Amino acid sequence: MEKTDILIIGAGIAGLSAALYASRSGSNCLVLDSSSSGGQALEIDKLENYPGIFPAIKGSELIENIKNQAASFGAKIIQAKVESIDKKGSDFSVKTDKNEYQSKALIFATGAEHSKAGIPGEEKFAGSGVSYCAVCDGPFFKNKNLTVIGGGDSACSETLYLASIASHIDLIVRKDHFRASKNLVDIIHNNEKIKIHFNTIVKEIRGENKVKEIFTENLINSEFNTLKTDAVFIFTGMKPRTSLLETLKKDSNGYLITDEKMATGIPGLFAAGDVRAKPLRQLITAASDGAIAGISASEYIKNR
Ligand code: NDP
Repeated sequence: MEKTDILIIGAGIAGLSAALYASRSGSNCLVLDSSSSGGQALEIDKLENYPGIFPAIKGSELIENIKNQAASFGAKIIQAKVESIDKKGSDFSVKTDKNEYQSKALIFATGAEHSKAGIPGEEKFAGSGVSYCAVCDGPFFKNKNLTVIGGGDSACSETLYLASIASHIDLIVRKDHFRASKNLVDIIHNNEKIKIHFNTIVKEIRGENKVKEIFTENLINSEFNTLKTDAVFIFTGMKPRTSLLETLKKDSNGYLITDEKMATGIPGLFAAGDVRAKPLRQLITAASDGAIAGISASEYIKNR
């Protein structure tokens, strides 16, 4: 059993920012992540809206900098999958697939993951033509025909990235309008490689060993259509990763409710980043949550 002041679960930008602030304020800090650290930021090819970072850099570069910054104040990042969280007395006990940890405070920064669209064929072709990450898989489809499903900021920004690689993109939006910001929508409308299909849903993703076509329905005139495609990128929203904390207070979409100090209601347990209920999920707001949670957890330890 390894003991520390503050244990942080999740090494995305929220968890790493919490580690930076908590370790800089003198607390011992361990960050646990089941995969390589970075979270959703790793999917960003061009980070254009992080204040002070200009011109744009890759999300992975920002993550590397924050990791080094947090490490310079003593924070340690460990690759381990958390299996359970328990509170014994005033301390937290966290079991992972490798080791067991005990801490005085816990910051939960597990983020959110891409929702599945629930389309027949989606599961079958996952990894062989169905993808949830343009930066990861887009480069495999140079000069190909691609499909993107979704009408939010993710779908639009990822479509623009894919348009720099592919020869044509069919963008399938189920409503008659986008949910994305106007700036992105304007650029999408002006890109000749992108064909927008409003009021349209994908009924099936078809192929043999890999994706070959999508079968669509126009919701206004009930016309069915088949479109040839080499890959389908799905951006239909996010869902929070909260399965380790079933009993905590959540909003109607399953996001954890905290106060402005990122406290969850259980003494010593804080949440930060996309896993918590909030009006804007961006790297900058995740970093801000992390900073507040890091300081709040340090203050909690000093005062308990
Ligand atoms: P959103 O929830 O904003 O958008 C999801 C989109 O998918 C909507 O158009 C929705 O349609 C559509 N959709 C949902 N389910 C289905 C389905 N089963 N079939 C077809 N379409 C479906 O999610 P995002 O991932 O785009 O964004 C999440 C958060 O992250 C947002 O707050 C966003 O602003 C932020 N973000 C910001 C970025 C930036 O500014 N750089 C980049 C990426 C994300 P409908 O509208 O009909 O519900």
